[in-house]
Amino acid sequence: MTKNEVQKTDPSRLFADLDLDPSILRAVEEQGYAEMTPIQQKGIPAIQEGKDLIGIAQTGTGKTAAFSLPIIHKIISDHQEYVGKTTRALILAPTRELAVQIAENVRKYAEYVSLRTTLVYGGASAKPQIKALSRGVDIVVATPGRLLDLFSDDYIWLGKVDYFVLDEADRMLDMGFIHDIRKIVAQLPKKRQTLLFSATMAKEVEKLAAGILKDPVRINIAPSATTAEKVSQTVLMVSKDNKRPLLQHLLKDQKMERVLVFTRTKHGANRLTRFLEKLNIDCSAIHGNKSQNTRQKALESFKNGDIRVLVATDVAARGIDVDNVTHVINYDVPNDADNYVHRIGRTARAGMTGISITFCDHDEMDYLKAIEKITKQSIPVSTEQPFHATHSSTANSGPAKSSIPKNQRSRSRHPASDRSNGENSNNKTTRRPNRHKRRAN
Ligand code: ADP
Ligand code: MG
Repeated sequence: MTKNEVQKTDPSRLFADLDLDPSILRAVEEQGYAEMTPIQQKGIPAIQEGKDLIGIAQTGTGKTAAFSLPIIHKIISDHQEYVGKTTRALILAPTRELAVQIAENVRKYAEYVSLRTTLVYGGASAKPQIKALSRGVDIVVATPGRLLDLFSDDYIWLGKVDYFVLDEADRMLDMGFIHDIRKIVAQLPKKRQTLLFSATMAKEVEKLAAGILKDPVRINIAPSATTAEKVSQTVLMVSKDNKRPLLQHLLKDQKMERVLVFTRTKHGANRLTRFLEKLNIDCSAIHGNKSQNTRQKALESFKNGDIRVLVATDVAARGIDVDNVTHVINYDVPNDADNYVHRIGRTARAGMTGISITFCDHDEMDYLKAIEKITKQSIPVSTEQPFHATHSSTANSGPAKSSIPKNQRSRSRHPASDRSNGENSNNKTTRRPNRHKRRAN
């Protein structure tokens, strides 16, 4: 490629143009990434400059690489002698699944550099974690509870942390980790770089951020653009009593290969799972009342195709990265419109298109309207199903009222360019190898 050709492409979008160690770039290239996602494009240079950062972007937008690549680079460029029981970077995640996922990614990106990464999480023996920490490490990926346990037993000292990452901050707060976080932050040196990532900028997150970040750069990647862009969405009007038979009916379609079903409550998730089990449909539930181990197992079976249906609550599913979810079914309409965006973001990952189907009972019409308002779209109603119910929504105004031709992509009515910041293609760049296709070849 000649120099001119290089200049024709937009250099700021490519990893190769970043000032990152060639060993890191090589690992990134081997992951199949060439272009950065928007959060990476904006975040990595800011982190390299040493700024604190608040990154707001939905799941699947590449936040892990956004913070881990510059941190890996900084640590190897400024290598220091290991001091027992200390770490230079601390990455906090709300759940064991996410901690495992982050550590896996960090290890991939650091494959060609010499770096010690350790996982610290509950529900597993602390012994190997303690042993690894005793020699001193570069990066600790931890859940708050176990980290504090190890801290109070004197197995880790946080006084040498230069880089602190709080991932999925909104979810941490949802899960009640605020006190743990504050205890941990109190042990960190004042002089450090802090990066906070969250899918939503709830007030509580803002409050937390105010206490632990200094003059942060803010990056906000609008989630709804992704939604409208990639996911083909429909609503099925159905009375509450007919939701089960409707789900049963839909699952007869073998194209529904890997289905994530959302319920509003843990009980709802359990009840629905029992119902599906009776129908001999391979399924499992994940929610906050299940042990980490059970959740991890369910997730693994879903990932590797042993179970076809995973029933989840919002909190349990957020942040989880599963390939090839073919359908998301909102068995209950989420009463928080942001959660709708999170839910349907579970399908159409890695640049593929996905399908989301929302079951809407008469009582849920207001929730649906709220969703259409925040995503600035009308979600088409499909009447081609045996349990169609006519809810009287005519008294209301708003987008749901209009009759939209079947199968019409909602984005054609409200193009993503309606979005405030024009970040309408962040999903396109999160392409990665399709494990299933690869296996089939
Ligand atoms: P988030 O933390 O925002 O939910 P992740 O960091 O888990 O997102 O990334 C989601 C997926 O996208 C991962 O499987 C990751 O390997 C992939 N990915 C990340 N960055 C890129 C990129 N620039 N190009 C292609 N795929 C990417
Ligand atoms: Mg993440």
